[in-house]
Amino acid sequence: MNITTQAVQIGLEWDTRTGAVTVPIYQTATFRHPGLGQSTGYDYSRSGNPTRQALEDGIARLDGAARGFAYSSGMAAITNILMLFKSGDHLIVTEDLYGGTCRLFDKIFNQYGLSFSYVDTSDNAAVTAALLPSTRAVFVETLTNPLLKFADLRTISAFCSDNNLLLIADNTFLTPYLLQPLDMGVDIAVYSATKYLAGHNDTVAGLVTVKDPELAEKVYFHQNSVGAVLGPQDSWLTIRGIKTLGIRMDRQQENAGKIAQWLVDHPRISKVYYPGLADHPDHARMKQDSRGFGAMIAFEVDKHELVEQILLKTNLISFAESLGGVESLITFPEVQTHADIPQELRNRLGINNVLLRLSVGIEDCDDLIEDLRQALEK
Ligand SMILES: *Cc1c(COP(=O)(O)O)cnc(C)c1O
Repeated sequence: MNITTQAVQIGLEWDTRTGAVTVPIYQTATFRHPGLGQSTGYDYSRSGNPTRQALEDGIARLDGAARGFAYSSGMAAITNILMLFKSGDHLIVTEDLYGGTCRLFDKIFNQYGLSFSYVDTSDNAAVTAALLPSTRAVFVETLTNPLLKFADLRTISAFCSDNNLLLIADNTFLTPYLLQPLDMGVDIAVYSATKYLAGHNDTVAGLVTVKDPELAEKVYFHQNSVGAVLGPQDSWLTIRGIKTLGIRMDRQQENAGKIAQWLVDHPRISKVYYPGLADHPDHARMKQDSRGFGAMIAFEVDKHELVEQILLKTNLISFAESLGGVESLITFPEVQTHADIPQELRNRLGINNVLLRLSVGIEDCDDLIEDLRQALEK
């Protein structure tokens, strides 16, 4: 079944008693036992809740996973996965990483004896050089933030199998609609469902999918033990969002492609990062491996003064953090999303004081372009 159809189907057959077309919000903390030693399959909502389960089963189907798991945020999801490791373990991590993930690794998990090597994971020699006897996993983002490099999952997963490492991929920017990481050798996919999956800038949520059933059991043990689960209301909102993932993504990508080209042609824009542009270094590989290029654009303006002007003058496009929702948002990574990345690394990556990041929404494309045009004028 096509993934668009699968997404619409989430929760549809859940309530056989009433035939409700959407899964009900089971707003309950606990469940009555039918008898001693008996269970309906639900005992307590941290361990399992039907609304959350509908979402977890749904994301598992979309990713072709053994199981899916829902958490109270993307960071909670990543935290739960990092807890699979123990003190002394080492991870190889892509250097072009979401700032919050970098902060979690360096300021929290560092304190618990995990260590991390940040490398350019598109450079095979650099990945191999970072390998230590204590290395247990490689953590990448399928499409990175904010500079939109596309991970070479086939090469990295071959390296991981050769060295008995887990491959964990943050697939937030692409979602299963554009790329199913588990089909490309990834063991665990993580999502900030806050972004494209929920898609309406109205919910904070995290999702995980796991390929191997045994590993999934372990992840479930951690989810239940740590307890950062997604509540029933937010699970329902996330399901509601996922149902329209396909059409939202199509529209957002179409808009992003046009806007990226418009930016390329604008005299005040000095650089445009969008993998759908033919001169993007990963364009050809992404065209082959992904069903689309996503709807995130990063661009440099010719003078720093223009950054503040654009952030103040855009009307339709909101100056706000986050991304992936139906509303277009613009942000200044250097001082916002990526402030926790060390300065030296930011410079090397190209996250500088003229770089802006645009999350393209579903608005009319001409209206978005007009908004950018007037914001760029003196
Ligand atoms: C937003 C984001 C996260 C964190 O998710 P939250 O839902 O905000 O906790 C992780 N990774 C990426 C790529 C993100 O964009």
